[in-house]
Amino acid sequence: MNIGLVAHDAKKKLMQNFCIAYRGILAKNSLYATGTTGRLIEEATNLRVHKFLSGHLGGMQQLGAMIEHNEIDLCIFLRDPLTPKSREPDVNVIVRMCDAHNIPLATNLATAEVLVLALDRGDLDWREMYK
Ligand code: PGA
Repeated sequence: MNIGLVAHDAKKKLMQNFCIAYRGILAKNSLYATGTTGRLIEEATNLRVHKFLSGHLGGMQQLGAMIEHNEIDLCIFLRDPLTPKSREPDVNVIVRMCDAHNIPLATNLATAEVLVLALDRGDLDWREMYK
């Protein structure tokens, strides 16, 4: 499965720790992340991550394009709830696209854990037929 990963700056350390904790599951899937998030995940876990441009330089649009083509099966966007207003459109675009394509989306750690465990258990296997 293809997993999309984004973390706002205030959540990047959390994303690294999440990826360390679930490294075993993540390693069985393909990872796609915005530039800085992807680099930090690679540094922390040594996992291979397909890195887009930095989020504000077009990476968010690149991830959005994959979602639009229904090529992302699960998206984890650890957003900063105190996100400056200027970054909210990024969040909204990803949320809207995931909703349009019925793609499971986590925007906080608790949901991210549930989704990754569900993925590992095979709960998202329906995505293979849906594509
Ligand atoms: P980044 O993008 O991973 O390149 O930092 C996410 C963001 O814009 O916060």
